[in-house]
Amino acid sequence: MDIPKQVKAVIDKLKKKNFEAYIVGGCVRDFLRDVEPEDWDITTNAKPEEIQEIFPNSFYKNKFLTVTVQTDSKNPKLKEIEITTYRLETKYADKRHPSEVKFAKTIKEDLARRDFTVNAMALDMATDKKKQEIIIDPFGGQKDLKNKTIKAVGNPEERFSEDSLRMMRGVRFAIVLGKGWKIEQKTSKAIKNNSIWLQAISKERVRDEFMKIIMAERAAEGIELLRTLGLLKYIIPEIEEGYGVSQNKHHIYDCYEHSLRSLAYAAKKKFNKYVRLASLLHDVGKPRSKRGEGKDATFYGHEVIGAKMTLQILNRLKFPKKDIEKIAKLVRYHLFYYNPEEVGESSVRRLVRQVGPENTEELLQVRMSDRIGSGVPKAEPYKLRHLRYVIEKVSQDPISTKMLDVNGKDVMRILKIKPGPRVGQVLDILLGYVLKDPKKNKKEVLKKEIEKLGEINEKELASLAQQTRKERRDIEMKRDQMTKKKYWVT
Ligand code: ATP
Ligand code: MG
Repeated sequence: MDIPKQVKAVIDKLKKKNFEAYIVGGCVRDFLRDVEPEDWDITTNAKPEEIQEIFPNSFYKNKFLTVTVQTDSKNPKLKEIEITTYRLETKYADKRHPSEVKFAKTIKEDLARRDFTVNAMALDMATDKKKQEIIIDPFGGQKDLKNKTIKAVGNPEERFSEDSLRMMRGVRFAIVLGKGWKIEQKTSKAIKNNSIWLQAISKERVRDEFMKIIMAERAAEGIELLRTLGLLKYIIPEIEEGYGVSQNKHHIYDCYEHSLRSLAYAAKKKFNKYVRLASLLHDVGKPRSKRGEGKDATFYGHEVIGAKMTLQILNRLKFPKKDIEKIAKLVRYHLFYYNPEEVGESSVRRLVRQVGPENTEELLQVRMSDRIGSGVPKAEPYKLRHLRYVIEKVSQDPISTKMLDVNGKDVMRILKIKPGPRVGQVLDILLGYVLKDPKKNKKEVLKKEIEKLGEINEKELASLAQQTRKERRDIEMKRDQMTKKKYWVT
């Protein structure tokens, strides 16, 4: 992998003005493991004002000493490059100006404030073409990268008490950097000792970091790691309530493991955040609704209790209201029963109304995740495909005279007739025209057609109407056949 020319250009410009400049942080880690970084960060000893002078096309976010340079790249990862002045850990900041972050003098000081050794490396780019890049690595990041180890920079206890969110970041890096990554022993011990301090972190920051874990490919492993390190109980303790709570004869896994397996499937299928959270939470009400023990235990109403708990959990974590309602609905209706022989269209219509037509696809995905999570081999058997078909069928607009740009009143007024079968016949014939040529569905066009139909005698009108009704039924049948084909059902 090459360092993008936009990044090189920024560094060259800073160096030409006699400042130090390095590529730094997560992007060095990713560069060294040959993975394209999310973003390229640059650090320098130039002060924000000095950076801005060099790059007129930049803006300054005061709080973080970060100047954002805009480039001409079309790649979203390179459109904006962030340059941050060397800085110290906030605890060294001048106490009289708590909002101020203090500058550091050297790159080493800047690297020392970073969270993990693999994130605390800088890359010095060769200025002349033959020279190799030099890695500045005072904390053994390269070695830890090789050994796939997440290790805090400096004293882990201190580092986690400075900023407790780092504990969750550690979990995230352990699962997203790839298979075989682990958290070094001292570091994980420090997480266990300091997990309680997660409560000092704003719910929004916890939520954002939690969602990064949820959106990872190995989200379920992330949740399990959060649990074993003692962090989960300060994020969503309700999930832990299911730990060791056995189910009944229909289930081989306990509630907790079943939830994790459901999430694992949702992540494997790259389902969206709503489906992932609903898959994780769909049975969260089970421990509180469990009655009896062993193979005959029951969990009546767990979906109602679970939906309520979901509202509480997501509210606590300050999720947007819209998301909360959607996920709670998916939990509330995850249990829907469907069998083509027993459940009619009207029940499906009710389900669609309750969960919301915009949520039906996600509900089916939660159901698939639920099934696979319980150890059932097939995610989408015939029944689920058939349900998809019926949902689409009941969601389609009916082919009816309501679609027309005129109504019975128009017909009566134009033809000067009273209510009676003729009105319906005229509308049916008009619908026939519009089905053949949708462009005709305009008031002005249809009014002229109504006038013409007024001149036809009663018998002829009736037979014309009958004929178009038959055509309409044929179209409806054809549409149904095609929907069936689409979902592979008969
Ligand atoms: P990714 O962008 O892939 O999520 P990253 O390592 O680039 O991972 P960022 O959040 O983009 O993470 O932060 C960039 C760098 O800033 C990190 O690599 C790390 O050196 C430093 N950093 C970020 N957050 C913290 C923190 N809470 N404590 C200490 N250093 C941090
Ligand atoms: Mg980053």
